Amino acid sequence: MTVQNITVLGSTGSIGVSTLDVIRRHPDRYRAFALCAHSQVDKLFEQCREFQPHFAVLRDATLATQLTERLRAAGLATEVRHGIEALIELSALPEVDAVMAAIVGAAGLEPTLAAARAGKRVMLANKEVLVMAGELFMHAVHAHGATLLPVDSEHNAIFQALPADFARGLDACGVRRILLTASGGPFRNAPLDTLAHVTPEQACAHPNWVMGRKISVDSATMMNKGLEVIEAHWLFAAPPQQIQVVVHPQSVIHSAVEYADGSVLAQLGNPDMRTPIAYAMAWPERIAAGVEPLDLFKIARLDFHAPDFERFRCLQLAYDVLTTGGTASAILNAANEVAVAAFLERDLPFLGIARLNEAVLSALPAGTQGNLGDVMAADVEARHLASQMIRERRFA
Ligand code: NAD
Ligand code: MG
Repeated sequence: MTVQNITVLGSTGSIGVSTLDVIRRHPDRYRAFALCAHSQVDKLFEQCREFQPHFAVLRDATLATQLTERLRAAGLATEVRHGIEALIELSALPEVDAVMAAIVGAAGLEPTLAAARAGKRVMLANKEVLVMAGELFMHAVHAHGATLLPVDSEHNAIFQALPADFARGLDACGVRRILLTASGGPFRNAPLDTLAHVTPEQACAHPNWVMGRKISVDSATMMNKGLEVIEAHWLFAAPPQQIQVVVHPQSVIHSAVEYADGSVLAQLGNPDMRTPIAYAMAWPERIAAGVEPLDLFKIARLDFHAPDFERFRCLQLAYDVLTTGGTASAILNAANEVAVAAFLERDLPFLGIARLNEAVLSALPAGTQGNLGDVMAADVEARHLASQMIRERRFA
């Protein structure tokens, strides 16, 4: 078996660390070729020591110099690069077989697009790529023969429940609906008047999954599920009305596909991202991921509820931007990134996140998604307006 070279974009994050754990379990199959992080020098150094990648990437030159000095002192040969150009190059080099796209937010768009344009196996965790530029990204995947494997647990589940040739169209495959499950986050049942005072610590304490801070806040507002509706739309060419969000607090069913004959095929498992990561790495084969087997007797029951679009405005906004099309979802994504960062800095109340997203969406007209420049311009404009609205304390 030839060893697959993997570039891990976002190796120090929650998905990155789980990816390295799967790589660690299968040294005969996978090798960490490049490890890329933002600014966590210590953690990246430790990862370089264990995995000895060809390349390591950090955000800027100062951090890169720090890492280089530590690697040299430890006698390690990993070459250190910095900046977005390095991420793009190391996602597309001929030696690279697969790219784990696990940077959080808009910063992951260009390198992931570069991997698609180079025809790589793209393992996509960074859902913001599809939210910002779904049309462009899917076009690049098809035009350059890339293999796209969803890592987001719901989309990975749907991918597993669909027939292999789903690209010929959901209707042609007899699919009636996609059932996208959602835990409902930590505030599913919280009294509405308490939501105004939610702290970042409370919002980041997800009941079932341990994740990065941005996606944890998105889960608490259900913006995450909204982003996932958009993600499912692009991945599976599913119209919004064929995507049904189902609140399922136990997070055991990771999503399901309903067929015309009445069958519903679901994927179940413990909430551990190493399952979808290992699936994306080994597909069409299956490999051990270090995940505990699912104990159905211990779980005993599964619950399901309809989503509450009043409580979770962000979920409705996601359906709205799909109807608008073009750059509307990039605008929503950018406003939301600014809003979540401000909430984490205690500059914006929890309920201000949805209000800010909505205000930015109504203020900015959506354009067409012709090229990356259109998307980036919409992103910059929306960030600018969102920051200005926060500075003016319009949502305090
Ligand atoms: P995280 O915050 O734990 O990690 C983010 C990683 O991205 C870190 O390694 C960080 O160094 C890197 N990064 C951030 N900004 C960067 C930049 N400008 N340049 C280079 N690197 C940068 O986030 P996470 O929870 O691992 O999530 C990563 C992505 O996967 C997100 O898009 C998230 O929505 C998606 N996702 C995560 C989970 C999960 O369980 N954590 C599940 C499904 C999808
Ligand atoms: Mg998910």
